[in-house]
Amino acid sequence: MTTVETVLQGFGIRTDEGTLGFCGVTLLRDAGRLLLVDVGHVGRRALLLERLQAKGIAPDDIDAVVLTHAHWDHCLNVDCFPRARVIISPAEHEYTRSPHQLDWATPAWTHAVLDRHPIQEVRDGEEIADGVSVMATPGHSPGSQTVLVRTADGMIGIVGDALPSSGSIAAGLPDNVFWDEDAARTSVSRIVERCAIVYPGHDRAFRIRNGGFEYIESTRITFSRFPEMADGAMGATFAASAPRVPIIYPSARRSAV
Ligand SMILES: [Zn+2]
Ligand SMILES: [Zn+2]
Repeated sequence: MTTVETVLQGFGIRTDEGTLGFCGVTLLRDAGRLLLVDVGHVGRRALLLERLQAKGIAPDDIDAVVLTHAHWDHCLNVDCFPRARVIISPAEHEYTRSPHQLDWATPAWTHAVLDRHPIQEVRDGEEIADGVSVMATPGHSPGSQTVLVRTADGMIGIVGDALPSSGSIAAGLPDNVFWDEDAARTSVSRIVERCAIVYPGHDRAFRIRNGGFEYIESTRITFSRFPEMADGAMGATFAASAPRVPIIYPSARRSAV
């Protein structure tokens, strides 16, 4: 039976100077094969390799990288794994060749990053490892997909940004919709109906309970460097956590495509 391990937790930290874009990275072990679901961006590269090394895993040991979607914060470390094929949905792969200009999360060079690897396109319902299949969950991006893993604890969904955080259950939408609002809403429902446990794109793993959630991992992050003011004071302000109001980007308006 395939096992699921968190390598890097996802975080949804925002600042008024931009996003950190820390996505979750998950390891699947299927008999002798190792698959990573999402790989994060280069700002987490050293930590990702360190965490894998701590598990006794070298970059060459990774057989496949499954991308929930091709946004920069989920795919940029793919070149760390030279032997890995990239498993992606056809719609997402196709989109990387001509992303919408207003879609800041899929830069025009994304295809150049991915296409250095052998590509395996997979469709809704397709099996990619023992007890592991993909479910199409578009809307956040054109070809977002969820990786479903059948376990003794119930169905685990590694969902990327189709459901980036626990807050998206109540919102009924992901935080950001780049492609299609209706599809994004349907995808959230599909995940909540299908999965017992969710590994979200920018939050830690939780179990779905009575339409709500219960975290199954603890978390912590330490900030260790801040801008200093002339008087030596810390040039940072902590605000109350911003409300989760889904943002529908112009690229999600079909007339703009
Ligand atoms: Zn993301
Ligand atoms: Zn995304």
